[in-house]
Amino acid sequence: MNSLRKNIAEMTGYVPGFQPADESIWIKLNTNENPYPPSPKVAEAIRVEVGADGGSLRKYPDAASREMRAAAAELFGVHPDWVISANGSDELLNNLIRAFAGEGEEIGYVHPSYSYYSTLAEIQGARVRTFGLTEDFELADFPERYEGKLFFLTSPNAPLGFAFSREWVASFAKRCSGVLVVDEAYADFADSDVLDLVREHENLIVTRTFSKSYALAGMRLGLAIARPWVIAALDKIRDHYHLDRLALVAATAALRDQDYLRQTLARIRATRARFTAELRAIGYEVIDSQGNFVFASPPDRNAGRVYQALFDRKILVRHFSDPLLAHGLRISIGTDAEMETTLVAMREID
Ligand code: PMP
Repeated sequence: MNSLRKNIAEMTGYVPGFQPADESIWIKLNTNENPYPPSPKVAEAIRVEVGADGGSLRKYPDAASREMRAAAAELFGVHPDWVISANGSDELLNNLIRAFAGEGEEIGYVHPSYSYYSTLAEIQGARVRTFGLTEDFELADFPERYEGKLFFLTSPNAPLGFAFSREWVASFAKRCSGVLVVDEAYADFADSDVLDLVREHENLIVTRTFSKSYALAGMRLGLAIARPWVIAALDKIRDHYHLDRLALVAATAALRDQDYLRQTLARIRATRARFTAELRAIGYEVIDSQGNFVFASPPDRNAGRVYQALFDRKILVRHFSDPLLAHGLRISIGTDAEMETTLVAMREID
């Protein structure tokens, strides 16, 4: 007897960016990781938590992540009831669908953006409706009023890198009957964000990750900021001990070291500007990016060929088979040295 749910049997599952087994021989620019380590206070906090013999690990972590939420709330200038922590922002995206979209109900998102939304909807049995982009990165054919239960707006967009303006998001929120989730995984690298709009719009939820700007992809940490009724709903459905003790102290230390964050962001933004200019100088079309990556197309738009030639040189970037994206590469911003090596290789490949 096979009692597997039909939608699970039929789905293919999400395929994350390739993680090579021997990381040291690659220049890894394919999953938008941070090339710099996290704040030194993170490793210190983990060492203190582990102690000499790991004794603290006998005990369960704080199920409510109180200290970490308080640190985030202080940083964002909201009451802790407006913040929830998560095991990566992926956990939040999952729980948001579970909370807001029942089986057969609709969620929407922009295509191209983060295709994991679609995988999560499939698991839930929710219907998916996607909206394309116009040439100037507006949503094409979006109804005056969107009746779906939830809409994911990735801003800055991944993999293209542009961001929607604050004013535009504010008016967009009013057009959504359900909740509008602004996935701000890359917002720390951008010129502005929409976090403060959460106060003004009952249906607006912002998600953040520690995987990019805080260089903690390996710890699996995320946050959502929203009205207390949304946070309370998300609290009900999450795993009760979803963050381990080390992740909790790491997140708290990272949040409290904003000076370090600012330094890292400034470096990555400067490298992004240089890399963009250099790529344009060799004929690539590069979208102005607000994230820690750029989307770039070679002059002949044969990005698959460039991907393979870089791969052969042990440089990993991301090439999507999606017809809307196949002409370009998403290249994460690494150190200056890594980007220089990548540029030398790209100049060689013709
Ligand atoms: N949203 C977007 C747009 C992303 O690109 C990613 C990472 N690939 C995530 C969310 C998930 O990030 P994490 O689970 O590492 O916090």
